Amino acid sequence: MSATRILLLGAPGAGKGTQAARIIERHGIPHISTGDMLRAAVAAGTEVGLKAKAVMDAGQLVSDEIVIAIAEERLSQPDAKQGFVLDGFPRTLAQAEALDRTLEKLGTPLECCLAVTVDTEAVVQRLLKRAEIEGRADDNEETIRERMRVYDAQTAPLLEHYRKTGSRKAGSRKTGSLAEVDGMGTVDEVFERIEEALSGS
Ligand code: ADP
Repeated sequence: MSATRILLLGAPGAGKGTQAARIIERHGIPHISTGDMLRAAVAAGTEVGLKAKAVMDAGQLVSDEIVIAIAEERLSQPDAKQGFVLDGFPRTLAQAEALDRTLEKLGTPLECCLAVTVDTEAVVQRLLKRAEIEGRADDNEETIRERMRVYDAQTAPLLEHYRKTGSRKAGSRKTGSLAEVDGMGTVDEVFERIEEALSGS
């Protein structure tokens, strides 16, 4: 049985959302994306949405307090018992530590952290193309560069966190759960690499 409690890490535009959709289709587990949940809150005009909108449009991070609360709430729902793909959370060390505590409390530790690695310039071009197609408010060049900067400063250090503290699956000899996957190539190629990493974890 391959891992079904999966964390996807990677820079904006690394293809996390696309690959998450493939993983949930194959494994029948929920996709938990804080970006999607925040966009839904903005669209619904909730209190959280009102607070988050300007921050998101500027390419900056919504407060740990807000995203930790929404992620915890979602992870506590019954369908997440059988597994999940976490996408876009955690993005800071404080969020990672909160996630570790929450999953420990729920008795559902992470089984695999997949880091999708990409070339930054290629990704900026990919995001600019997506901007034309989807018209997301945070997909303009200035904001894209800001999101990259924020990723390097706040989120990239999480790779080290998962390399060190990665959960250990019962019966596995691996002590770290971090698997690095090359995110360049076609969607199918990247998905194949992901499946390989999952079956080995
Ligand atoms: P991307 O596709 O750029 O990786 P997401 O769709 O995951 O972006 O998130 C869009 C925006 O929502 C982020 O730029 C940020 O403002 C906010 N956001 C999403 N998840 C988090 C998080 N875990 N912590 C803080 N802000 C978040």
